[in-house]
Amino acid sequence: MQNTVKIEEENGLRVEDILKNTPLRENAFELDDVEKIDIIEKHFRRIMETLGLDLTDDSLKETPHRVAKMYVKEIFSGLNPANKPDITLFENKYAYNKMLVEKDITLYSNCEHHFVPIIGKVHVAYFPNKQVVGLSKLNRLVQYYAKRPQVQERLTEQIAEGLKEILNTQDVAVYVEAEHMCVQSRGIKDTNSSTITAVYSGKFESNDIKQEFLAYIRK
Ligand SMILES: [Zn+2]
Repeated sequence: MQNTVKIEEENGLRVEDILKNTPLRENAFELDDVEKIDIIEKHFRRIMETLGLDLTDDSLKETPHRVAKMYVKEIFSGLNPANKPDITLFENKYAYNKMLVEKDITLYSNCEHHFVPIIGKVHVAYFPNKQVVGLSKLNRLVQYYAKRPQVQERLTEQIAEGLKEILNTQDVAVYVEAEHMCVQSRGIKDTNSSTITAVYSGKFESNDIKQEFLAYIRK
């Protein structure tokens, strides 16, 4: 499979759009999952040994394999476009054309600078067009983009772009509030801070609509 950045460049997208993409190597998907797990397992074993851990210990023995499998199959599985959720739309029979908000979607991601967790909530909203989406699919889309090494700004943009593409509308909003373990447990050790990012597009750029959305997500 080809690098998505490359594909989109060829389609003539603007530089801002390209920056929304996760930086991937051109050969990102030449290896299959089994080969990736095998290589990561070997490297992770070296990391643990370098730290001085005794890998013959029963409790540690399987850790390199567990970590490698978790990286490829779970927490970084969203790097592979093959894992993008299949999202089917339904005809908007009820002709509901007002704001739809899906709030408090659980967010588990990982910071690409330290490879430690980002934990938070995502709230998304859109105005249905002629078609609507199954609600759980909104959660799945958030989780797909979360399962990558991320920075919160890019994650927010990627969710917004994904929603626009699937729902076939520009009228989407994404609000992310998250705690970064790299801020809380190391470095500055601020256990109270959280980070908020938001993207408002189409109708959500109007202040009234934005305020309505914010009122829905306020606790
Ligand atoms: Zn970090």
